Amino acid sequence: MADYDVIVIGGGPGGYVCAIRCAQLGLKTACVEGRETLGGTCLNVGCIPSKALLHATHSLHEAEHNFATMGLKGKSPSVDWNQMKSYKQDVVNGNTTGIEFLFKKNKVDWIKGWGSIPAAGQVKVGDDIHTAKNIVIATGSEAASIPGAEVEIDEKIVVTSTGALELGKIPKKMVVVGAGVIGLEMGSVYARLGSEVTVVEFLDHITPGMDADLQKGLQKTLKKQGLNFVLGAAVSKVDTMKTKAKVTYKLRKDDSEHTIDADTVLVATGRVPYTQGLGLEALGVEMQPRGQVKTDAHWQTNVKGVYAIGDAIDGPMLAHKAEDEGMAVADVIAGKHGHVNYDVIPGVIYTTPEVAAVGKTEAQLKEEGRKYKVGKFPFMGNARAKAVFQGDGFVKLIVDAETDRILGCHIIGPAAGDLIHEVCVAMEFGASAQDLALTCHAHPTYSEAVREAALACGDGAIHA
Ligand code: FAD
Repeated sequence: MADYDVIVIGGGPGGYVCAIRCAQLGLKTACVEGRETLGGTCLNVGCIPSKALLHATHSLHEAEHNFATMGLKGKSPSVDWNQMKSYKQDVVNGNTTGIEFLFKKNKVDWIKGWGSIPAAGQVKVGDDIHTAKNIVIATGSEAASIPGAEVEIDEKIVVTSTGALELGKIPKKMVVVGAGVIGLEMGSVYARLGSEVTVVEFLDHITPGMDADLQKGLQKTLKKQGLNFVLGAAVSKVDTMKTKAKVTYKLRKDDSEHTIDADTVLVATGRVPYTQGLGLEALGVEMQPRGQVKTDAHWQTNVKGVYAIGDAIDGPMLAHKAEDEGMAVADVIAGKHGHVNYDVIPGVIYTTPEVAAVGKTEAQLKEEGRKYKVGKFPFMGNARAKAVFQGDGFVKLIVDAETDRILGCHIIGPAAGDLIHEVCVAMEFGASAQDLALTCHAHPTYSEAVREAALACGDGAIHA
């Protein structure tokens, strides 16, 4: 008899959620995690610490820029960087120990160490072999390097997001390579702390894949906040000299070569699946060309009883996508119907203002040749947003031209990351813009802007 019904390898949001759900469904479950703490990239060096620093530095920004206007006079707070990092670490610790508690509560065994799969049904950790009817690979991802460039990451001067969360001091000059979510969030943090931040991006726009209006709106706002952008630039080299670095890039439009000096260079060019040491090749597990584990519609690999989820497989590298897959694969293993609707997975950037999106962009719909209507409402027409200095931005709802069914939503503005879920629920229920427009929204809330965008898809918004 096998030791376990399920062994999950990796204790990140995909793995720990999967393990808890398996246990709740009555399956004898263990989770193998090699880090000292549970929670994976997300809780230890990703979503949570970055949001703690974003919160702290947003508060500083409020004190420096808006307090006096509200009659809150006095000296702006000074920054104690070590204390800010220690606050961030407390937030992380609170969350990671919380998962340990949940494991105990749900009777999930945490097998500490790095796991491999010597054969289907077996997981090796150290010298021990544990047997399981089902194995779930949830080993996540690691930072990618800069394609085609000479770069050595030392996590001190040239850092990934992990090093950027723990810098010894606040850099005077920071270069961020890559204008994706992680680069812009960390760039915002340091710009608010007084660093001169320059973002160098290969493409001609920021946040690849997002709606063009959001890209323009966010870049404009971040520029106002002091971030510099060099777009259409291919970084070829990062040289380090004792305490400094020099970034060399070529502008794609004319091939001219340029350099920028920096105290810190953040390499934020994306992430790649992490499956090292699992022994997948010997096991005969099929992989995708870009390193993801290949799975079928039920997250099973070509090896029976071996599943994979989260950043280690295809799809957006997001904690909530990993969690949803974790719950769904648990259902599948328990003989139930596991389901993830990949058409309704929101994406959020936690800058100020926040950016959030779900569903189709205009560019995608044009490519599909689908007829659509757009309802757009600016936060300038939202009383609550204006009262808190967040009148920049808009809600843009995209609906089918004939049926009025909601196809996508793109928001830049206050609490966008929370507002988007009203639209996600509406999309899950196949709602039309009129359904949203006919729903009473409390006043004064940011949510009224979503309703106004829905009204704009029909007879018109009231406050625009
Ligand atoms: P991971 O969280 O990477 O967890 C995998 C775990 O497996 C790790 O703890 C690793 O130690 C362990 N592991 C690997 N191999 C083995 C092995 N052989 N044996 C034992 N253990 C192993 N996503 C969001 O949705 N929202 C955000 O705001 C957000 N912010 C981010 C900010 C930053 C700076 C970064 C880097 C990422 C951010 N992400 C965010 C992405 C998010 O962290 C990932 O999508 C998510 O963590 C993926 O979950 P996962 O469970 O697949 O993998």
